[in-house]
Amino acid sequence: MDFKKRKMLMNALNVAAAGLMVWQLVRFSAVTFWISLAFVAAAIAANRVLWRCPHCGEHLGVGVGDVCPRCGKRLDGGQ
Ligand SMILES: [Zn+2]
Repeated sequence: MDFKKRKMLMNALNVAAAGLMVWQLVRFSAVTFWISLAFVAAAIAANRVLWRCPHCGEHLGVGVGDVCPRCGKRLDGGQ
């Protein structure tokens, strides 16, 4: 999976997890709680596994720009 697809998947999971947490807060039930918890866990797991530099494999953390903070290469595949 290329970096753009991984980034889109990460963003979709984060939006889904955040949306479900808000939904869970508004309409609490055991079902919505476990569904939202599963999405949060999936978002965290995907972050740990997928949110890495395609060149050196370093975890990118929060607020990364267009280049890897470790190796300095562009994350979108350019030089
Ligand atoms: Zn890197």
